[in-house]
Amino acid sequence: MSEQFDLTIIGTGPGGYVCAIRAAQLGLKVAVVEKRKTHGGTCLNIGCIPSKALLHASELYEEAGHNFSKLGIAVEGLNVDLAGMLKHKDDTVNSNTSGIEFLFKKNKITAFHGWGSIEAPGKVKVTADDGATQTIESKNIVIATGSDSANLPGIEIDEKRVVTSTGALDLETVPEKMIVVGAGVIGLELGSVWSRLGAEVTVVEFLDRILPGMDGEVAKNFQRTLKKQGFKFKLSTKVTNVDNSGDSLKVTVEPAAGGDAEELDADVVLVAIGRTPYTKGLGLEEAGVELDERRRVKIDNHYKTNVDGIYAIGDVVVGPMLAHKAEDEGVAIAEILAGQAGHVNYDVIPGVVYTSPEVASVGKTEEEVKDAGIDYKIGKFQFTANGRAKAMLSTDGFVKIIADKNTDRVLGAHIVGKGAGEMIHELAVLMEFGGSAEDLARTCHAHPTMSEAVREAALGCGDGTIHM
Ligand SMILES: Cc1cc2nc3c(=O)[nH]c(=O)nc-3n(C[C@H](O)[C@H](O)[C@H](O)COP(=O)(O)OP(=O)(O)OC[C@H]3O[C@@H](n4cnc5c(N)ncnc54)[C@H](O)[C@@H]3O)c2cc1C
Repeated sequence: MSEQFDLTIIGTGPGGYVCAIRAAQLGLKVAVVEKRKTHGGTCLNIGCIPSKALLHASELYEEAGHNFSKLGIAVEGLNVDLAGMLKHKDDTVNSNTSGIEFLFKKNKITAFHGWGSIEAPGKVKVTADDGATQTIESKNIVIATGSDSANLPGIEIDEKRVVTSTGALDLETVPEKMIVVGAGVIGLELGSVWSRLGAEVTVVEFLDRILPGMDGEVAKNFQRTLKKQGFKFKLSTKVTNVDNSGDSLKVTVEPAAGGDAEELDADVVLVAIGRTPYTKGLGLEEAGVELDERRRVKIDNHYKTNVDGIYAIGDVVVGPMLAHKAEDEGVAIAEILAGQAGHVNYDVIPGVVYTSPEVASVGKTEEEVKDAGIDYKIGKFQFTANGRAKAMLSTDGFVKIIADKNTDRVLGAHIVGKGAGEMIHELAVLMEFGGSAEDLARTCHAHPTMSEAVREAALGCGDGTIHM
């Protein structure tokens, strides 16, 4: 008789691998199935980690070219060694993905390589690259197959000149002109990388704003900063065709509402219009697992599908497509399957855009509190009035805290600024504990730090800021 597992997870991205480790720690016998050669999913292989390696390297290059002289550092012969930068990215990916392999061994998790599909509840079929199949018997199955880049209808991706984020992480030369389709997080991050390295970047966005879903004031402000950095924007505009027959790409754009078409030249077009859940070839229809209107796996509040013993987490289910959201769901379902009370607080999931400056937010936007009819107040503080920011030549941006006018409870926080992605967490902890703006304002903050601006914004929700 074949080996019986308590839990088999299909996909070892941040949702799947974290779920596997937590479940094994809680005493379950765990198997994972992964179609890629390496573990870590989109995030570690072609997403969060490689993009941050390139963002970091290109940011330092940009700093060296622009700010070092103001700091009294003379730099001569500054050059981009693109091959070296890509190697740093690949080394970072390898070190992270091999770390997951180590953690699987440490936690006695059995890893199967191949295509996973559900034969029936309790049975996962693994098809290896050579076509050989085997069946894993498992009491429970978690689908953690993540997502894939969404395509623009009629536009052919070759991952060389017309690329998704995956190709944009591997360009062999810096394009002279790059068109980014979509002004979401991924488009702006990867656009920043190539803009810093010398590309002229034009962002074409269907909506009339960048970063849909983020606080409107923050997005407007941030767009101004990106323009100062050389970004061009064509908002309320759609791409209708990319002609790749010549040496340069001809990109046809039109006003989103209809009107005269225009042709733009580009060396590289990055299609970053979002991601679609990965549900094909999984045997979901055969197993009777329901999908929702956007082809995500439908789950209840405990990650269970409509079929007993089959669960789903991460990008393949409803909610923000973020690695830490997938990880937290992985922990929650592992705890639920081990008989504990796993839970994720979806009101406190931070989101970060790792550009320069960074943009970070947690909780509600001003538009959301307004729409909900909540009586609210706002505290704001600009980094131009923060001593540390001045010392670091990093005065772009501000902190905005939204609190309930009657209870002072913090409902949302938004930061544009250097290190915003780190600073946002004191607000996340505060919100987890149901804290007030006054709680934050009365907490001593080390001087001189960028985080003092966070405290000042909290003071701004009450009696007023001190340094502005
Ligand atoms: C360029 C880029 C940058 C990003 N940056 C960030 C960031 O900075 N922060 C952030 O929070 N998020 C970021 N994301 C999003 C983040 O990568 C995803 O939200 C996260 O990876 C989702 O995790 P997951 O476990 O649900 O799925 P995934 O990471 O997509 O993992 C799913 C895994 O399942 C495997 N799989 C799929 N089908 C099968 C099958 N049938 N059999 C076997 N294996 C299968 C896939 O090969 C994959 O390894 C970024 C994404 C991209 C593309």
